[in-house]
Amino acid sequence: MSRPAILALDLDGVLVDGMEEYWRSSLSVARSLGAPWTGSHEEVPPAFRCIRPWVHTGWEMVVVAWALAHGAAAEAFLQDYPGALRQWQTRLGQSPVALQDALERHRGDCLSRDPRGWLAQHRLYPGVAQRLCCCGAEGVDWVVITTKGREFAAALLKQDGLRPTAVYGREDGPKVRVLRRLLEQRQPVWFVEDRLPTLEQVTADPQLRGVGCYLAAWGYLRHADRQKLRPPTHWLDHAAFCAPFSAWPA
Ligand SMILES: [Mg+2]
Repeated sequence: MSRPAILALDLDGVLVDGMEEYWRSSLSVARSLGAPWTGSHEEVPPAFRCIRPWVHTGWEMVVVAWALAHGAAAEAFLQDYPGALRQWQTRLGQSPVALQDALERHRGDCLSRDPRGWLAQHRLYPGVAQRLCCCGAEGVDWVVITTKGREFAAALLKQDGLRPTAVYGREDGPKVRVLRRLLEQRQPVWFVEDRLPTLEQVTADPQLRGVGCYLAAWGYLRHADRQKLRPPTHWLDHAAFCAPFSAWPA
């Protein structure tokens, strides 16, 4: 099969680079929780950039910003991300739900107060708009599956004139559940994601056998991701992503 019926794409690190926004929003929330940050609010610290590929859901970034403000070394997160995250979340004393709510409230405020400013902190990766425009002509529905809130994802896509068939956000549950629903609609489904553990979850799920899995090489990858990648997941470099589906690795 040389093309999907549905192309499912992650948002952050696949379609959009939002590093500036991740940092600024996370830091704002961390500061509201007492983080003593004295550095720049605007410039993304290299430590945050290095840790970002480990992040699964937004609230974790607040913990990372809070930890960095308290002098945490990036190494602690890079060597044992779940352990460091747990340790700093305990010190912060806030639940994931409370942190996610605070982050989304902050984003909601930014989006209503200064929509242009907020949207400008995100950039579409090169070639994305052109590639997605071709999907319609190829008879392929494309959808977005993200751990971000749906409202924010939709605002970002709208700003760039992108019109997916559907946007599935954090509210729609885990990505594997969304993929199961998509499989019931049309097949085959191909899924492009920059977080390897998510792709590993998909390939380990017997109900999702048949989903084509692609690791986006241009996204927020951890150093060892390319070496750790195992079939049936494919490495998708940017040139292949921009090419017709028949040229994608199979
Ligand atoms: Mg991602």
